[in-house]
Amino acid sequence: MLGGIEASLRRIAHFDYWSDTVRRSILLDSKADLLVFGMGERPIWEIAQRLNTGESIERLRDVRGTAFSVSAAEAEALSAYPSETVTDGRVLLMPSFEEVKADKKKYALASRMLHYETNPYNARPLIQRDSPRGAGVYFNAPALPLETHEMDELYDLPFNRTPHPQYKDATVPAFETVKHSLVIMRGCFGGCTFCSITEHEGRVIQNRSADSVLRELRTLRRSPDFHGTVSDLGGPTANMYEMRCEDEKYESKCRRLSCVHPGICEHLKTDHGPLIDLMKKVRETEGVKHVFVASGVRTDLVADGERGQEYLRDLTKYHVGGQLSVAPEHVSEETLNLMKKPGIESYDRFAEQFRCASEDAGKDQYLIPYFISGHPGSKLSDMITLALYLKKKGVRPRQVQDFIPTPMSLAATMYHTGLDPLTMKPCYTARGLREKKLQKALLLYWDPEQHELVREALVQARRTDLIGSRPECLVPHGRDPRRPARHAPHAAQSLKAKKPKRRHAHR
Ligand code: SF4
Repeated sequence: MLGGIEASLRRIAHFDYWSDTVRRSILLDSKADLLVFGMGERPIWEIAQRLNTGESIERLRDVRGTAFSVSAAEAEALSAYPSETVTDGRVLLMPSFEEVKADKKKYALASRMLHYETNPYNARPLIQRDSPRGAGVYFNAPALPLETHEMDELYDLPFNRTPHPQYKDATVPAFETVKHSLVIMRGCFGGCTFCSITEHEGRVIQNRSADSVLRELRTLRRSPDFHGTVSDLGGPTANMYEMRCEDEKYESKCRRLSCVHPGICEHLKTDHGPLIDLMKKVRETEGVKHVFVASGVRTDLVADGERGQEYLRDLTKYHVGGQLSVAPEHVSEETLNLMKKPGIESYDRFAEQFRCASEDAGKDQYLIPYFISGHPGSKLSDMITLALYLKKKGVRPRQVQDFIPTPMSLAATMYHTGLDPLTMKPCYTARGLREKKLQKALLLYWDPEQHELVREALVQARRTDLIGSRPECLVPHGRDPRRPARHAPHAAQSLKAKKPKRRHAHR
């Protein structure tokens, strides 16, 4: 059996950024009997139980959250309803691997079909064949989300809370950042198109009970290197704990890919109350000195969600260690729409609320906003607008991300096809390494090491008005390589001697 996030995201034919090619399902390359996608506990329980009763692995063809290979004849029989509009329960036939490899529109269509079949309450099985009449892969519907008691059972297992013994005494950096953190939930209903969390963990939030979190905290307290600081109380998002669709009848029919974009759905329960209570219980536990929230805060929920301001008050007063990470990602409306992120005004409003709440708490603390360059939709002109925004706000980002398409994400489809798969409309995509470099440099416009690239970007975008020493400029004029440097008289003399005409031309 094959599983884990890599297998999960490469289960259909997908664009692979590293090789710049479309690859077929990893199941076929691996030759495994079954591929488990998503978080996997539920399918693994079922598979283990059925194997234990003597069933053979070839017969396990109806386990939710798994995929298996089918012969051409089986694919033919199973895909008797090859339409995108078949009624529930029937199998949908996706464009084949050969078709999506050769035709970008077919790739975008396959991507769209897959994403509309990710709600476990209404998803239909899918088949993707190698060629239109060939063998292929059959995908069962995703596993159902875990209930709270199941999440609790899982987290009550006797984990060692140490890296695997094969690392011996080596420090594992990824472990160091999480070893004193507590996961309170999984899943994300944000549906950001560049992110694979929703594809892997699902859109339905699965919560642990407060008791379960406190039990883990007591275990953590017994670790010899725990000195009272919980480094993160969160999950994929900091503030979606116990938030969910208000009614099963809506949730079971819904095919929206985000509950919060283009606006917060009227059926979404956005009460921060359970999270406020949980944060209080954790910080008031004996032996705990600090509880930080390092997971990203969804700012639109704070602004519009129930008890959002109360949450922000507690967050700023007790749970921010000087800096809080948030991810506005961009300022361009078009790019933010393609990302399925709220407009920049949502971040601005949050920043102001955060400043006031920090002042009230008597704390000097800052927001660390994350931005992405090179995302589909983002042109050089958009990055210039972003750089001007950062300058106006006095923000000098240090950690910036250049967009990398993760397999199976909607943004990866945009990157590969130049189409928004949800509308099939063309979208701009920076593909060349040089343009990606220029876009990233604009985020670091304040860094002298990037000035040369920023000037190049501004010249290319015909915005030379932003080069100079005026307050509105992004970068100063560069030293003309033909002009002698003041501190190098010999070089100047030799330049003068060798190229008198060019020097004159520069004057
Ligand atoms: S109806 Fe609204 S809240 Fe419910 S699942 Fe759909 S988008 Fe989310």
